[in-house]
Amino acid sequence: MSVFLSACLLLGGIPHPASAAGHYMEGEEDVSLAPKEVEAGSRQESFGSDGNLIVTLDPGHGGEDSGASYEWDGLTVDEKDLNLKIALACKRELEQYDGVTVYLTREDDTALALSDRVVYADSVQSDLMVSLHNNVQADEDDPSPTAIGALVILPNGNYRPELLPVSEKVAGNILDNLSELGIINNGYLQRDSTSKSYPDGSAADYYSIVRNATLKNIPSMIVEHAFLSNYDDYINFLSTDDKLEALGVADAQAIAKAYGLKLTSHSAAAVGDAPFTDVYLEDYYYDPVVWAFENGITSGTSSTTFSPANACNRAQIVSFLWSAAGKPEPESQQTAFTDVAADAWYETAVRWAVENQITAGTSETTFSPNAACTRAQCAVFLWKAAGAPQPGEDAPTFADVAPSDYCYTAVRWAAEQGITAGTGQDTFSPDQICSRAEIVTFLYRAFASPA
Ligand SMILES: [Zn+2]
Repeated sequence: MSVFLSACLLLGGIPHPASAAGHYMEGEEDVSLAPKEVEAGSRQESFGSDGNLIVTLDPGHGGEDSGASYEWDGLTVDEKDLNLKIALACKRELEQYDGVTVYLTREDDTALALSDRVVYADSVQSDLMVSLHNNVQADEDDPSPTAIGALVILPNGNYRPELLPVSEKVAGNILDNLSELGIINNGYLQRDSTSKSYPDGSAADYYSIVRNATLKNIPSMIVEHAFLSNYDDYINFLSTDDKLEALGVADAQAIAKAYGLKLTSHSAAAVGDAPFTDVYLEDYYYDPVVWAFENGITSGTSSTTFSPANACNRAQIVSFLWSAAGKPEPESQQTAFTDVAADAWYETAVRWAVENQITAGTSETTFSPNAACTRAQCAVFLWKAAGAPQPGEDAPTFADVAPSDYCYTAVRWAAEQGITAGTGQDTFSPDQICSRAEIVTFLYRAFASPA
């Protein structure tokens, strides 16, 4: 779902990207490029319609401009590095498709002026320019400020308004895919310059990338994936190369969907027995996904995708558990939950889970089917599905799971059973969102009979 939020609405809850300390470069550049003449029938008039899409990805910042910077656990995290990893992953993923050529404005730690990025995109005849960023909120009194989630900056549509629907379609897909990963969707942002005009006299865009791309007749956007100043966003989506890869893949799949690109037959053949184009032999969750597919526990998120990095939500985990139990018919006829429709695909699974005391819902009347599960919640679901057994005295413990935590017994049991080994030497990361890959791996270890 995509919603247009006006700049003033956003300013209420979310700091403007340009107003946050360390993140000034997105907007603050005075250069406006000469508008490109567009002739009838030219590539610029018919972007993407010649059968080959040209996409320029722009990893924000670089060189001396590190973009947003934030310190976590004594480690300084620079936005420029995150942006580059996301862009490289996005390029790799997009190149799995036919009919697309991908360029990067920078492939290493190079400084580049904002307008030069658009000059480059224009020089390679781009059909689309996507600038990749991450956000920060500065608050001296709070080490983990509350601003959280993704937003996309779009052109204001005043000049060459025909470009806006193209940007909007891609941006909507990107926000959808990022929210599938568990990132909060803050919608779109458009901002007029108070001092600059387009050649037709209308207010120009405030942000240099979208202003100059519009002048060069290129649909564009600036994607702010997450807030590196918020601990939840950082730990869930930005803290490892795998997580950054997932963001780049999400962006690439969104672009591919917007233009109807098809995967090349080569990449489809690389996946072995799994029917999914996004699960590879070398993935740690390859065997679990094949097992889950062959046993009817999952049919994927489409006929060709499993979406391993997507967040596992409550509807999905209950359905996984019910399927792994052999899909027994529940005795009750209905649930007490107002947010579980009688014809929802997970309705029978929820009735079964309630009957078997695997869940009591999130309140007496709600189940919250679309809420993302944390690793702690997944462990508790699995433990209850197994009959809430008591772990042995020697069962492992983790430094980040205290005896008073609701998940303590469940996590120890899961570790004792070899269902999880934790996330680090002594950590379980209970509050991290559980991905579909992780939950299927947990299920495989809990339910698959040993070979
Ligand atoms: Zn940035």
